[in-house]
Amino acid sequence: MTKDITKIFGSKVFNEECMQDGLASDTYRELQKTIQEGKPLNPKIANAVAHAMKVWALQHGATHYTHWFQPMTGVTAEKHDAFINPIDGGKIRLTFSGKELIKGEPDASSFPNGGLRATFEARGYTAWDPTSYAFIKNDVLCIPTAFCSYTGHALDKKTPLLRSMEAINTQALRILKLFGNDGVTAVKTTVGPEQEYFLVDKEYYAKRKDLIYTGRTLFGAPCPKGQELEDHYFGTIKTRVQAFMKDLNEQLWELGVAAKTEHNEVAPAQHELAPVFSTTNIASDHNQLTMELIQRTAKKHGLVALLHEKPFEGINGSGKHNNWSISTNTGKNLLEPGDTPYENAQFLLFLAAIIKSVDEHQDLLRLSVASAGNDHRLGANEAPPAIISIFLGDELEAILEAIVNDTTYDGVEHKLMKIGASVLPKLPKDTTDRNRTSPFAFTGNKFEFRMPGSSSSIAGCNFVINTIVADELRQFADALEGSSDFETDLHNLIKTTIKEHKHIIFNGNGYDDAWISEAEKRGLLNLRATPDALPYFIHKENIELFERMHVLDKEEMESRYEIMMEEYTKIINIEALTMIDMAKKEILPACAEYAKTLTDGILAKKAVANDIDATYETETLKVISEKVKDATAACHVLEEKTDTLHSIEDFEKAACYVRDEVLPAMDALRAPCDKLETMVDDKVWPFPTYGKLLFGIL
Ligand code: ADP
Ligand code: MG
Repeated sequence: MTKDITKIFGSKVFNEECMQDGLASDTYRELQKTIQEGKPLNPKIANAVAHAMKVWALQHGATHYTHWFQPMTGVTAEKHDAFINPIDGGKIRLTFSGKELIKGEPDASSFPNGGLRATFEARGYTAWDPTSYAFIKNDVLCIPTAFCSYTGHALDKKTPLLRSMEAINTQALRILKLFGNDGVTAVKTTVGPEQEYFLVDKEYYAKRKDLIYTGRTLFGAPCPKGQELEDHYFGTIKTRVQAFMKDLNEQLWELGVAAKTEHNEVAPAQHELAPVFSTTNIASDHNQLTMELIQRTAKKHGLVALLHEKPFEGINGSGKHNNWSISTNTGKNLLEPGDTPYENAQFLLFLAAIIKSVDEHQDLLRLSVASAGNDHRLGANEAPPAIISIFLGDELEAILEAIVNDTTYDGVEHKLMKIGASVLPKLPKDTTDRNRTSPFAFTGNKFEFRMPGSSSSIAGCNFVINTIVADELRQFADALEGSSDFETDLHNLIKTTIKEHKHIIFNGNGYDDAWISEAEKRGLLNLRATPDALPYFIHKENIELFERMHVLDKEEMESRYEIMMEEYTKIINIEALTMIDMAKKEILPACAEYAKTLTDGILAKKAVANDIDATYETETLKVISEKVKDATAACHVLEEKTDTLHSIEDFEKAACYVRDEVLPAMDALRAPCDKLETMVDDKVWPFPTYGKLLFGIL
């Protein structure tokens, strides 16, 4: 029987309807105020809210509650507490107090904190983010929370995101006031993240240590067919995958995640899921849930989902396109060019702020998506290069040109507003002329940031985007608030901003090599690897920026920098150790076994008669011996490099050593091993090949 989607949608979410049902009307109103204004919960109503939540949760089968948070590991964390409370007579009562709702106190000592606190004072606390609804997952009432140390320092990905939403709210409201939008009381950014992932058969996955330990293949020769026919993109979805997607969608809908689009991606076995956009902190929570459920549901269907940015060499990796916009509480999308001159002028001012922010903070945008996994993707002709630029489309660029040059656009004269906003035509929202090679593309009423990696938390890039745009809006508001001739000053501000920053606009093919040299001529940053990008985070002006916007302070930034650099080093160290293990215990022994079979064959033939041809055995044996020798030497080198790495204490030096020494040594080991895979009998090869992984779901 098909389920009624309208009934299952949000059925496991403590949403407004549940609040209204479970709360007295004045408590409900107070809670609504808290949610809409993003204020902390009034402790006076906390008990009533907690009680209503508990009653609802118990009705829906929950036995436990948890403060659900996103520590710096990037995955979500939860510690379950049962509702039970022993009372006299050997009985229990089920309780959940306001105090327990507002604040949790997990032992934080084992979460990455980048030296922010010594272990003895490693207590942290979690605080409910009432703007994100509580929900039930696996019979546990999950309360979305932010995670801080007792000194108030953010230890998670959510806190800076919430603070950045506050910053952009404050600054955007100042701008909107200048344009007379008196009814607007709140501004929020919105995000729709498109999630890519691969599915492989669980049986094959279980035979590959590289997938188990690192999420990507560290060895693997290309199979005869790759993605060249592009026949997978939007292709018919296989029955087994379809069943997985159906199951996944239903679970997401129950949790109020508006999963909307699903399709096969370019690479074989690659898929995409896109939700309808929502407020950024909610979109971020929902994306975490989506990643978790993709993985869990895949297992139920005998599959494993790979969220890694580059699971297969030579095959497109996975990203997470972050569609971003700004909206008012009155429902207006501020990146939607308007109908009136005033609306158009306002749109152009926001656009100018974004262009300026992207240009001035290329470093921050780049590092917001930096990770060991994403380094394989950026600039590999499947994702934007590591260079930041903006795509606006020919029409919008021509309009900006006209503003800069004081000419008319499309032969229509400027009226009403000097900036020519009156002549701004309706911009096409057609997807066909999309530039899919641009890292930061305007798509009619939003920007699509195409660089984030598939496994990353979108909180990371969005707190950066929100903050840098907020800071530009602040500067614009400072410049315009005291103006005695608003229209002239506005015109000049937009004009000079575009003029100064238009070198960041690039409408051409971002995958083209010519762009790399062109970008260099324009003076744009090209930070190729994670350890090239991350140090910019703690540059003086960036610390000042985040402190000014009250998003992160110096200590928090320094600790995050250390965590991110260490994570890079740790990931590649695990990869290197896994390669050594697989080479020594699986690949080389398999090769030795096959070499023996070949030798035995040659000797057997010789024993029959000297002139029986043994060309295949002899030639293969020769190549195998040669490559085994190369692989053995490369394995020794990699072992030496990892030993050296373990002796480096300084985290910056370690990350650079990984980039310069360990990664090349890994490539040097992979090359002979991949060649060996093509020579050795399939029956002897120790793990499933690319063919099985990519085309093995029947
Ligand atoms: P594609 O980029 O694959 O062509 P769409 O442009 O239709 O797809 O949408 C991609 C994503 O952008 C969806 O998740 C959609 O909800 C989201 N999106 C649409 N409008 C906005 C907006 N105003 N703010 C944020 N995201 C949005
Ligand atoms: Mg898209």
